Amino acid sequence: MAKIVVIGAGVTGLSCALRVQAAGHSVTIIAKDFPSGFETIDSVTQINYTSPWGGAHNRFILPPPGASPDSQEAREHAMALLTWEEMRALHDQHPEAGITFMKAYDYFEAPELAQTSLTEDRARDEFGMKDFRFHTKEELPEGVGLGYEYLTWCVNPMVYCAFLLRRFAYRGGKIVKREIRDSLEVFEMTDLAPFDVLINASGIGFGDQDVFIITGQTCLVANPCPVTITKLNAEGMPSFNVSRNFEGGTIIGGTKIPNDWNPNPSLELREKILSNFAAMYPAILGPEGKFTVIKDIVGRRPARKGGMRLEKEISQGGKCIIHAYGLGGRGYELSWGVADKVGKLLAAHLG
Ligand SMILES: Cc1cc2nc3c(=O)[nH]c(=O)nc-3n(C[C@H](O)[C@H](O)[C@H](O)COP(=O)(O)OP(=O)(O)OC[C@H]3O[C@@H](n4cnc5c(N)ncnc54)[C@H](O)[C@@H]3O)c2cc1C
Repeated sequence: MAKIVVIGAGVTGLSCALRVQAAGHSVTIIAKDFPSGFETIDSVTQINYTSPWGGAHNRFILPPPGASPDSQEAREHAMALLTWEEMRALHDQHPEAGITFMKAYDYFEAPELAQTSLTEDRARDEFGMKDFRFHTKEELPEGVGLGYEYLTWCVNPMVYCAFLLRRFAYRGGKIVKREIRDSLEVFEMTDLAPFDVLINASGIGFGDQDVFIITGQTCLVANPCPVTITKLNAEGMPSFNVSRNFEGGTIIGGTKIPNDWNPNPSLELREKILSNFAAMYPAILGPEGKFTVIKDIVGRRPARKGGMRLEKEISQGGKCIIHAYGLGGRGYELSWGVADKVGKLLAAHLG
C-alpha cells in the first residue's frame, strides 16, 4: 500500500482520490476549498474553485471522421464514455449522489463534418451513444440545421461532489484544509507523514504558463426541465440548460469568454441568456409563462493550451507527481476517465 496525497477537492481530485483509494492505497486530500452548500460558498473569494459553478451535464463531443484513436478528440471521447458508464453505476446504486439520467438534445446551427457524417449506426456502434436518433425537420428549433438526441446524465454539482467526499472519508481517506504555494512544498510538510506520490488535481496547476480561464455566466432558475439541451449557434454564445435533481432547479447558460476576470454577473447578459433559451424551448416557461430566477452564477473553466495535463513527472528532487488539471469545460464529463488514467499512471510508477 502506497501513501498518496491528492491536491484538490474539485470533481477531478475527488474522483482521482476515490479511484486510487479503491486500488488499496492510503490517500490524503489537501485543498484550499472543499464541497459545501450554495448558502456558504462565496461567489467571489471562491470563484477559482470551479466545481461548484459548473452545470454540469455530459454532452458528447464527437471526434471528426478519420481522427486517429490517439488524437485528443478520440481520447477525450473514450474518457467521456467511461465516465458515462461510471455515472450510470453510481446513479443505480446511489440515488443520493445527485445524478439524473435524461435525454440530451444537441442542436447545431452550422453543423460540421463530425455531425453531418454521423449516422444512427455510427452513433451507436462507433461512439457508444444510447437511444440515439436524429430530430426531424419539424422538431428542430428555428435556424437549426441538424439536431439529435441520446441518453445522458446531469449532476447537481455540490450534491455530487459532497457525495464523493463523504464516500472518500467513509472509506478512511484523510482530509486536510490548507493552501499550498508550490506543489513540491507538500513533500516538505513536516506535519504530514512521508508519502510516495503526489496527484496534482488543482484545477489550474502551479504556475503553468499554458493555463488560462474561460469564464462562464449562467443563471439558476426554479423552472424544471425534463431534457438537457445545447444549441451551438453559428455566431455568438451557445444556449444550454442543465437540469438539477432534488428540486435543484435548472441552470440556463451561457457565456464562454477566455480570460475574462470580472467576477460579477451582468444583468443584461442574464436577460439575453434567458430569452435566447426561451426562444429555443418555450416549454421551460411553464404555465406561468416566465422564469423564476434563483441566482446568477459566474465561474472560471480551468483551460489549457493544447488540452489538459495528464501525465507523470519526476521532479528534480526525484519526487513523483501525477498531474491532472486544465480540464476546461469538461471536468465532470471526463472525470472518471481522468481518474482511471491517473490510477494507471500510478500503478505503472509503483510497478
Ligand atoms: C459555467 C460553467 C459551466 C460548466 N458546465 C460543465 C458541464 O456541463 N460539464 C462539465 O463536465 N464541466 C462543466 N464545467 C467545467 C467544470 O466545472 C470544470 O472542468 C471542473 O469543475 C474542474 O474541476 P477541477 O477539480 O479540475 O478543478 P476545481 O473544481 O477548480 O478544483 C480545484 C481544487 O484544487 C484546490 N486548489 C487549487 N489551488 C490550490 C492550492 N494552491 N492549495 C490548495 N488547494 C488548491 C482548490 O481548493 C480545489 O479544491 C463548467 C464550468 C463552468 C464555469
